[in-house]
Amino acid sequence: MLTSLKKIIQEFAQIQDLNKALSRLVVMVKETMDVDVCSIYLANYAKQELILTATVGLDQSAVGKVKMGFYEGLIGLVGDREEPLNIENAPEHPRFKHFPEVKEEKFHAFIGTPIIHQRKVLGIIAMQQTSIRRFSEDEEAFLTTLAAQIALEIVNAEMVGTLNVDNHQQLLESRVVNGIPGSPGLILGQGISYKIKHDLRTWVAKKSDDLAQQISLYRKAVEITRSQVSKLSEQVKENIPEDVSAIFQLYHQLLDANSLGREVEHKIHEGWDAASSLKFVVENYANRFENMEDPYMRERAVDIIDLSNRILTNIVGDSNPLADILNEKSDLPYILVAQEVSAPMLAEFPRHLLAGIISITGSNNSHAAILARAMGVPAVMGLHKISLNLLNKKEIFLDGYSGRVILKLSDTTRRECQNLIAQEEELQTKIAKEAEYPSITQDGKAISLLVNAGLSATIEMEQFIQGDGVGLYRTEIPFMMRERFPSEQEQFELYHSLLSAYPQKEITMRTLDVGGDKPLSYFPIVEDNPFLGWRGIRLTLDHPDIFLVQVRAMLRASLGLSNLHILLPMISSINEVKEAKRLIKQAFLEVKEEAFKQGKLLSKPAVGVMLEVPAVIFQIPQLAQHVDFFSVGTNDLTQYLLAVDRNNARVASLYSSYHPSVLNALQQIMTISAKENIPVTVCGELAGEPAGALILMAMGYSKLSMNAYSLRKINWVIRNISINDAEGLLKQVLRQETQQEVIEIINDYLETKELGGLLRAGK
Ligand code: PEP
Ligand code: MG
Repeated sequence: MLTSLKKIIQEFAQIQDLNKALSRLVVMVKETMDVDVCSIYLANYAKQELILTATVGLDQSAVGKVKMGFYEGLIGLVGDREEPLNIENAPEHPRFKHFPEVKEEKFHAFIGTPIIHQRKVLGIIAMQQTSIRRFSEDEEAFLTTLAAQIALEIVNAEMVGTLNVDNHQQLLESRVVNGIPGSPGLILGQGISYKIKHDLRTWVAKKSDDLAQQISLYRKAVEITRSQVSKLSEQVKENIPEDVSAIFQLYHQLLDANSLGREVEHKIHEGWDAASSLKFVVENYANRFENMEDPYMRERAVDIIDLSNRILTNIVGDSNPLADILNEKSDLPYILVAQEVSAPMLAEFPRHLLAGIISITGSNNSHAAILARAMGVPAVMGLHKISLNLLNKKEIFLDGYSGRVILKLSDTTRRECQNLIAQEEELQTKIAKEAEYPSITQDGKAISLLVNAGLSATIEMEQFIQGDGVGLYRTEIPFMMRERFPSEQEQFELYHSLLSAYPQKEITMRTLDVGGDKPLSYFPIVEDNPFLGWRGIRLTLDHPDIFLVQVRAMLRASLGLSNLHILLPMISSINEVKEAKRLIKQAFLEVKEEAFKQGKLLSKPAVGVMLEVPAVIFQIPQLAQHVDFFSVGTNDLTQYLLAVDRNNARVASLYSSYHPSVLNALQQIMTISAKENIPVTVCGELAGEPAGALILMAMGYSKLSMNAYSLRKINWVIRNISINDAEGLLKQVLRQETQQEVIEIINDYLETKELGGLLRAGK
């Protein structure tokens, strides 16, 4: 039965038009299960009706015509109870309703299962038989499994508009598609899909007799591609920080790799033409990458394929797809849409025309997302299972803050989106006016605002000079941008540029926090539960070589300065702190000796720990004896307290730092730390959200570290509230039972302070 189920699903998924796919599906189910009837009813929420959309066994002429209320008949009962209904003799059931059009008098046995997507009943699939019998457990399980698998296809088809029931009525009232926020900002634009003209994956392999010609064709194509990539990397250099353009180094490395060329030429020698030889070699490489557990490595398959398609286009001698795209005129700004947006695609697109980015696959780890953030272009990633056609040449509203994309905008929605954009612009103007003013609340409490840096710390610092320093420098980002561990000297130069740029400001450098969702391509870690595994301090303590090199580089970089703070990530026990401090002391003594020889002074750095693993909340007094400061990582603290993977879209609605337990934990951390007289910063995303900052300030936190984009906004919020007021709000907040209630109360408060609109808490 399992194999048949798989086959049915496969065939169903391959049929583009959903009405046709459903008609085929019912036939396949009838044949496989040997029943007399199989039917599908879809829900129309606007009219609160279930419509017969496909059937085999009932009267065909009833399709599209028979409609029943949401609570009508047995079909309505299945939808209402949201569970399967298995009845021996349907006409005798008290809820049975006779619809003469379908001609079902002779059928007795009935089984129906709801088709549910994200808690919403999309429709019902039912089987019937003339005999009086109960369907077996196997049959019931089959139908439930089938219903679960077709739900997503139905949602997508409805979105794409290939579903046509009830005179083009839309089945779902909303066209909101949720992806992963890639880069912040709002934009209403036109989707422009970048469709690759020549794709190696679909290339039909051909033989060739002319070996010399094919080799020369391949070599020339590689040369052209090489110069195109060089040009692209030059082009983006002006727009992005230097370390981001390191992405292009990877392309050069791939092009220079002798092995690739050798393998392709070997295939040509076997009698294949240049394009086919490239196809064989690249597919083999890409498959190997795609099958890797590590998400960063999987992302690299995209780079290999993108680059190879560029070589292929040059073998064929065709132009780039972008030329065609840009010939099309649009009144709306362009939102670049692609199955997998690659860094060179972004580099190619003229910057002044690029207003937004949507990548169907990919995460906020993808190079495209990293680049988008660096270029300040709003982006949404990972809109799984949405066809490009749905987005191409269509009006789209993109919300890079929440990862939301709205399609098929009604006039009202369009107006709402335009309002949101206008509000954002207005807010930005207001905020910009006060950007240079100090972060002091209306009742006189000074809050220290710091920057979370990493992508290119110096540039962020230059742009947001009003920050009081760097509260979190994520050192792993420069590690991730390279193809090998950076040397001590490379690290020294990077850290020194940051420490010396603002000698008066505190700079908190976190030791390497890789593992979890932050992999290093050159140091693969394969684990079943990476977030609970070899991450952060656990990894670096097991590799004192990596830790010592990094700490030495930090200390050397701080020679003659006194602003270095070292922060330890993922601490879950005091032993880890002791061990890390022992290594820091060792590095300190080594560097001090070298410094002494050079007649330079080495100041002792402040050492702190991240509070992001729940265990440490219960050891704050003990921890405080060992370190100089704490920094609360609300991103991981939320993930670990709630047992919700911070990157898993399926449980995204459960991930909220406004959950009362998280807020109570944050309050507890502050209260105990204050007793211990130890400084605490919050460096998780919550500190950069207006509602979050407000609540944190009320709890007593006076140092908030956030991404550079949020700095001005939070400064503005601080200047427009009073702590006294916020404390009253906090009392109410801490009495709530759910995150939704918390959010509601905070949003109401922001509204009364005329700080609502875009500053509202979202989740
Ligand atoms: C956090 O966990 O809140 C944090 C700031 O660290 P990261 O997001 O880098 O894990
Ligand atoms: Mg963290």
